[in-house]
Parts: sequence; C-alpha cells; structure tokens
Amino acid sequence: MTGLAELPLRPELVGEQPYGAPQLDVAVRLNVNENPYGPSEAVIAQIAAAVTEVARDLNRYPERDAVALRGDLAAYLGHGLTADHVWAANGSNEVMLHVLQAFAGPGRTVLSFAPTYSMYPEYARDTHSGFVTFPREHDFTIDVDAALAAIEQTRPDVVLVTSPNNPTGTALPLEVVVALVDASPGVVVVDEAYHEFARTGTPSALELLPGRSRLAVSRTMSKAFAFAGGRLGYLAADPAFVDALRVVRLPYHLSAVTQAVARVALANATEMLAAVDRLRVARDEVAAWLAGRGLEVADSDANFVLFGRFADRHAVWQGLLDRGVLIREVGPAGWLRVSAGTPEEMTAFTQALDEVLADDDVSARMP
Ligand SMILES: *Cc1c(COP(=O)(O)O)cnc(C)c1O
Repeated sequence: MTGLAELPLRPELVGEQPYGAPQLDVAVRLNVNENPYGPSEAVIAQIAAAVTEVARDLNRYPERDAVALRGDLAAYLGHGLTADHVWAANGSNEVMLHVLQAFAGPGRTVLSFAPTYSMYPEYARDTHSGFVTFPREHDFTIDVDAALAAIEQTRPDVVLVTSPNNPTGTALPLEVVVALVDASPGVVVVDEAYHEFARTGTPSALELLPGRSRLAVSRTMSKAFAFAGGRLGYLAADPAFVDALRVVRLPYHLSAVTQAVARVALANATEMLAAVDRLRVARDEVAAWLAGRGLEVADSDANFVLFGRFADRHAVWQGLLDRGVLIREVGPAGWLRVSAGTPEEMTAFTQALDEVLADDDVSARMP
C-alpha cells in the first residue's frame, strides 16, 4: 500500500488530518450543535413523496441554479429578498468555500476574530488564501477600534465574522458590522448559522444588506432548522455578489434530491423550527446550572454553551464520554462546549458532569 507521504501532495497538506468532530456511537451526543428533534411522520411522508417525484427524472441533471429553492429561501428570510439575492449550496461550509474561491485566493487575505469557527482556516488553506486572526476581548466580544486597526493593518480581501459566534455564543451588535463593512476594502461575511437561537430582539445583519453590496449574510438549515443531514446552507447578498459565487460553483452542485427535500423542509418551516424555543430554554437552564456549579460560562445566543475553565479539559471531556455523554473539546484552553439537547440529554449531561467534577484531580480549574 502506498503511504500518503509517498504521493506528490501539496506541501501545505502534508501531515494534515481530515477535519471534523469525532462521530462516536454514544447515547447522548451534544457535540456538534444539532437540533435533537427529528421531523414528524407527516413531514417524513412529504419528504418521501418529493423524493419519489424527483426520482422519475434522476437520469437528468438537476436545475443548475436552484432558482425555486433560492426563492423559497428568500421568502423564508423576508427583508424583501428574492431568489436573485440568495445563494445555496451543500451546507454553509460549501457556501463559504464559494465565497473564498470568488473573493480570496493566492496573494489575498482572509481576516477573522478568534476564538471562532474552526473551519475557516481550512477553507482559506483549500483556496490558497492567507488567513489572519485577531483576538476577541476577554468576554468574546469584538472591540470596534481593535477591529478597525486589524483591518487597517491587514487590508483583508474577506472578513469573516460569526454571530452568534461559535464556539462562544456571542452575538455581534450591528454597529460593529457596519464599521467593518465601511472600513474593509473587500467583502464582509456575517455567518449567522445560529441566528434563530438568538435572544428576542437580537437583530440580523440581513437588515444591513440594502446599499451594501460587499456585505453577505450566511445561514444554514443544519442547526435551528433540524436539517443537518439534508446539507443545505445559503447566503443572502446583493445579486452581483451572488453572481460571483455562481461563477465558481461546480456545475450541478446541488442535487435534485437535495433541492426537493430542502423545499419540503422550508414549506414546513414552522414545524421544523418548533423546537427552537425549547432549545433556547435548555441553553439558558444549562448555562445557569453550570454557573451555579461555580464554573465560568460564556454568554450565549446560540444553541450551545461554552464553559470552563479546566486545568485539564480533556480529562473532563473523557470523563463525560466514559459516562455516555459526548461534548466538544473546542475553543481557547480550558473551555468545553455543550450543545442544548432534550431534557433527558441535559439531565444525563448534568448528572455525568457532577460525577466527573466530584474527582478533585479532574475538576481543577485553570488559574
Ligand atoms: C455549524 C456551523 C455552520 C453550518 O455548517 P453547514 O455546512 O451548513 O452544516 C456554519 N457556520 C458555523 C459557525 C457553524 O457553527
């Protein structure tokens, strides 16, 4: 067998591992911010019927521009958006790759504010783009003056900001987005993968789109929409921005099955999103519970909570896994992230964590 080292790989890929959270067969999975509530039997039946319908034409390529789906997504977003303002792909990960393919690349720079989504450096690497991060504040907010100085210093072609941020849960005030767009020479993408979970009154950067052709807002059906397995992410921007993404996408990138199934999910948006309120409550409850145990907890507008800080976070993570609870070892040193789940899952998590923290060696905090 040939080893990877013997292949003429791009030098920057040597030694790299395929990225992703461990997919372990564990009873309680609170590690990738999925919505734990699956579709109803009624929606499952509609999905099956839609798949049967498109199956008759699977000998043909799908509609390349997914116009009907993009129209449905625009209607879901509101704000007067139409299909022309919306782009869709296999997860917002692919949307973000399209953005970097179109606007970053060799000799160009992507700027983000850490800690943030761990996939961004991978998209930058895969598009041969430079990737630079500047630190967030201690409470994980972005200081406008520091951000403007970062833009002045790096003159980025793409700025990626996540709101609510992953893994911290921090939502970004719109004034910060406006300042970033005004100061940036390139494009600014606000990744709103968790927007539906934000506390009431948290504005969306969608409001800022009119008159700002270098701003884009990305969303996903993977989290609040309970459709992670369907792989559908999307972005809203000026039609010219969308046209740029159409240039770099692979032909027929969205399968006919994906388009049809996503349209069924969107037609049932109210039901698909029905668990969002329950998950916000679960988030707030687990945050309060963790704080009650004397832990540091980041303020979260998403469906997860970052908590810590442990001297040996891996030992805590492993202790939970040994008790059948999988969470995520991610973020700055000492922190762990737990997704909001069902009441049964949250009980399993808190009970397991109490057991783990009873061991003084494992529960030691960072200074
Ligand atoms: C989960 C997540 C996404 C969603 O990715 P998909 O490819 O749409 O599943 C995007 N951005 C952030 C910050 C996320 O945490």
